[in-house]
Amino acid sequence: MAFIAGVDVGNNTTEVAVAEFTADRELRVLASAIVMTTGIKGTAGNAVGIVDALDEALRPLGLTYADLSAVLLNEAAPVIGDVAMETITETVITESAMIGHNPSTPGGQGLALGTTVRLEDLEAASGDEVCIAIVPGGVDFEEAARLLNRALSKGVPIAGAIVQKDDAVLIHNRLVRPMPIVDEVKEIGRVPVGMIAAIEVAGPGRSIEKLCNPYDIATVFCLNPEETRHVVPIARALMGTRSAVVIKTPRGDIQTRRIPAGRLKLIGRQRNAEVRVEEGAEAIMAQVRKVAPLVEIAAEPGTHVGGMFEHVRKVMATLTHQPVSTVRVQDILAVDTFKPQRVIGGLAGELSLGNAVGLAAMVEAHRLPMQLLAERLQEKIHVDAVVGGVEAEMAIRGALTTPGTEPPLAILDLGGGSTDASVINESGEIRSIHLAGAGDMVTLLIDTELGLEDRGIAEKIKHFPLAKVETLFHMRHEDGSVQFFHQPLHPRLFGRVVVVTDEGLLPVETREPLGKIAAVRQQAKQKVFVRNAVRALEQVAPYGNIRLLSFVVLVGGSALDFEIPRMITDALMEYGVVTGRANIRGVEGPRNAVATGLVLAYAERENGVFRTACPLGQ
Ligand code: ADP
Ligand code: MG
Repeated sequence: MAFIAGVDVGNNTTEVAVAEFTADRELRVLASAIVMTTGIKGTAGNAVGIVDALDEALRPLGLTYADLSAVLLNEAAPVIGDVAMETITETVITESAMIGHNPSTPGGQGLALGTTVRLEDLEAASGDEVCIAIVPGGVDFEEAARLLNRALSKGVPIAGAIVQKDDAVLIHNRLVRPMPIVDEVKEIGRVPVGMIAAIEVAGPGRSIEKLCNPYDIATVFCLNPEETRHVVPIARALMGTRSAVVIKTPRGDIQTRRIPAGRLKLIGRQRNAEVRVEEGAEAIMAQVRKVAPLVEIAAEPGTHVGGMFEHVRKVMATLTHQPVSTVRVQDILAVDTFKPQRVIGGLAGELSLGNAVGLAAMVEAHRLPMQLLAERLQEKIHVDAVVGGVEAEMAIRGALTTPGTEPPLAILDLGGGSTDASVINESGEIRSIHLAGAGDMVTLLIDTELGLEDRGIAEKIKHFPLAKVETLFHMRHEDGSVQFFHQPLHPRLFGRVVVVTDEGLLPVETREPLGKIAAVRQQAKQKVFVRNAVRALEQVAPYGNIRLLSFVVLVGGSALDFEIPRMITDALMEYGVVTGRANIRGVEGPRNAVATGLVLAYAERENGVFRTACPLGQ
């Protein structure tokens, strides 16, 4: 009787299957385990994680390394993926002409139009010009309210105020007449005096309606069509804000500028193409598709993309002890996205959603380092470590242990760094492909679009549904259902959007409403996984025709996602393909496909036959 272990080292996780190969040459998988991968996939650094995973699987069986006759490693070429974001537009204000932000507590509400006047000059203002008061930070709220009231009582028409400190509500409460007040304007010194300004404050829970619409801005300021075109970036930057100020200065100029992000050169087996990153994801992916199969992708040196590609190449070169020049970027996935960005020249730290392109790149190196890994492992545990079995083939073998499957079959392995597809036909021939872009890319998109700057919380948002804590005793889930609690929730959750994780409720540090967060999450998944599923299957399907595949099985960590399988199923339904999540050995769900495939292949080699794998398992 011999025990063997199959080990699948992935970008994110290392999975193990321990099996018993009995004297009468039967194979039984006894246990499995999963740990985070240590080091970059396919390099010697993985040994630590592998040992942990083996320990975890062996312990409950009462076995030690000495009981293992072999450890089987997947023949994974090291693949590293890198994800980056290139901003391709930015809003630039050359004259101070706009304020638009979300102060937590603006005062009053409504739209007001007038000429900007300093607080101290209000009383001197002539009575017929409507004023917008500018209140600098040095004046406290009581004094500000007093001066405003005094000017009002003298008949100066004041329509609204722009305040530096966070005092709008305090001032407003003391005024004899209500007016909209925008506060927290950091650069108040740069607000031009004597210019026509429009200010708008939305009611609680709403966002402004007028100053985010170019035609309303045109109405307020009597703009001609040419001038209206120029205010489009203003309107766009103000969309969704709670309060806003637009000031018309004679030379005020606001533009959306496209930033050159660099060029990509796609070198295919048959043809080449060049595309500028700022043309956006659609244009890039159209070229990638045209040039496929790709041999290499080069980026213009000295640009942002150039930098990203250089980084990926360098990391890979160091890890595999190869010269940088031999490392090739073999696939990219580009997606259009938005990135909140400081408005250049803005007065209140305004953010505008700049267009950005997210890029995932993938580098595949030679198999050499796997041998080093096997040696390192052998030194550690004194068990034969055998590199054998191409990952994609093992994954298919493992996937075929899903009850109800048989060749021909296609699998999609939805991992962290790459999306892989393989197809097995009736005669057992297997074709496979690795594409850049998977779970990590989704997390990055969620992180940037919501401006979280916290990958950890972005990862949680990806994994779990959201809810809104409406009172301390109930919350509304994103599907609309309401959950009540007997014990009060923690007060810090009150009124917050939370992620409903397995370990409890996690508040999301953002002012975005629940609907927006959910939409960003779903779009990120669509953009990465639906596109890659179609792209991958097109490359492995007979004649590139997805319709010729009848069954597709999903494996890998991202197949556990609560939305992704459904999105892929819907997309593939168009091609008449039946899609579902794998259930490896009838017990593992979409996990452990490669590790299971490895032990099966071993048994097959030993027995000289391929036994059908279905009755395996506990
Ligand atoms: P790899 O083979 O590259 O190591 P995995 O198959 O382990 O990758 O998949 C890792 C990816 O799966 C990560 O992006 C992770 O966020 C995602 N993932 C893991 N568990 C879940 C889950 N329950 N829901 C959604 N995504 C998940
Ligand atoms: Mg994997």
